[in-house]
Amino acid sequence: MREVHVIGGGLAGSEAAWQLARSGIPAVLHEMRPVRSTPAHVTGRLAELVCSNSFRSDDAEHNAVGLLHEEMRRLDSLILAAGDAHRVPAGGALAVDREGFSTAVESALLAHPLISLRREEIASPPADWDSAIVATGPLTSPALAECVATLTGAKSLAFFDAIAPIVLRDSIDFSRAWYQSRYDKGTGTDYINLPLTRAEYDAFVDALLAGERHLPKDWEGTPFFEGCLPIEVMAERGRLTLAHGPMKPVGLTDPRNPGRRSYAVAQLRQDNALGTLYNMVGFQTMLKHGEQVRILRTLPGLAEAEFARLGGMHRNTFLNSPRLLDDTLRLKARPGLRFAGQITGCEGYVESAAIGLLAGRFAAAERMDRVPSLPPPTTAIGALLAHITGGAKAETFQPMNVTFGLFPDPPGESDAHGRTARGRERKRLYAVRARVDLARWIEGGHALAAQ
Ligand SMILES: Cc1cc2nc3c(=O)[nH]c(=O)nc-3n(C[C@H](O)[C@H](O)[C@H](O)COP(=O)(O)OP(=O)(O)OC[C@H]3O[C@@H](n4cnc5c(N)ncnc54)[C@H](O)[C@@H]3O)c2cc1C
Repeated sequence: MREVHVIGGGLAGSEAAWQLARSGIPAVLHEMRPVRSTPAHVTGRLAELVCSNSFRSDDAEHNAVGLLHEEMRRLDSLILAAGDAHRVPAGGALAVDREGFSTAVESALLAHPLISLRREEIASPPADWDSAIVATGPLTSPALAECVATLTGAKSLAFFDAIAPIVLRDSIDFSRAWYQSRYDKGTGTDYINLPLTRAEYDAFVDALLAGERHLPKDWEGTPFFEGCLPIEVMAERGRLTLAHGPMKPVGLTDPRNPGRRSYAVAQLRQDNALGTLYNMVGFQTMLKHGEQVRILRTLPGLAEAEFARLGGMHRNTFLNSPRLLDDTLRLKARPGLRFAGQITGCEGYVESAAIGLLAGRFAAAERMDRVPSLPPPTTAIGALLAHITGGAKAETFQPMNVTFGLFPDPPGESDAHGRTARGRERKRLYAVRARVDLARWIEGGHALAAQ
């Protein structure tokens, strides 16, 4: 059997190589460290955790990332096995001893007879590689980033990431908010609006100005793009900058106050095909996460908002996957190249490893002349895959953590607002359905390229 090349031995590449090998397919893993490093890695080890040592919540009943852990364990993930083996106490979270964890991943890969490791930078995947997985992460080396930009069109790779928070639609209070596109363009549910009085606007601007900021190290000294300023920087430029900018109230009529224009309006734009997530328009921010939650919840309609993602600014190389990748993560323009990990626009250690797991399995299935089978979109791993390969809107695509907001609505009776169960019960229903559907997928022989 011919080998598959995996470029990048981080969370995604290590998992992809493992999945290939356990399916009986030889994998050649190319990792540039320690020959060449990145601005964030400090060791030469495979699967190094560049920042926190946490894989986040391990609650598979009520948390989407906890459910993803469980699914990955059932799919024989090396990253989860090593994480479990090197777990350190962290309440309900899965946190790991970082050195023990990455040493365990590296040892398992080196011990596998079908895996070979080459310590080298790949600046451009050679044309005679008929199957390769690019898993080079948010800090992809500049030479390879340039090559990928050429393959995909120079505008398809983002380098500095200014992201706005995303809110779960179901956590918005519609006794204050209303659906409407500016000047009634577009469909009825494209935008959600939050009206502010002058007093509310003034208090919001004051809170932004006083909010504590987080400036990542590699951002220091980099000028802001004028078209994408953090909201607190806009507020600094003048008290009315926001009211004349992203919070302008024109073309919108509050149905509860039709005769009077709001002083300002915060808008949220639909962010996924399911309509479960809404992105806060123009609200990219570098406020500390706790501050974001506190300040954004002062907006009318967001008092109990749950956030699928918070804002931030950091270097991040990622593809516009919904536009560029097919549903098995192959580059449409060059199907011999598959992408995995954070470079596909998922966010986080666990999500990156999960997409690596799928890329490895899809590539293995192809090598065995089988048609890769997609995980059900009702599972955490399937919902994440569906989001990055098409569910998300390409025009506004930004890196995404796994969240129940990516799942189709859970089964059950809906209330007067069209909503099914709420809160913890709703989460439990997602998890129960995911378990059944994943089991069916595995038992049907679809999940595994080989046993
Ligand atoms: C500064 C920073 C802090 C972060 N903090 C967190 C956090 O606390 N929690 C969290 O969940 N996520 C965090 N992330 C996101 C994190 O990077 C990803 O979650 C995860 O590491 C991505 O996995 P990956 O396999 O896609 O990339 P990586 O784990 O980065 O692996 C990519 C690998 O590819 C190698 N490589 C790059 N270019 C080449 C090349 N041309 N040839 C060969 N090898 C190459 C790199 O050396 C690296 O080993 C952070 C990211 C950054 C940049």
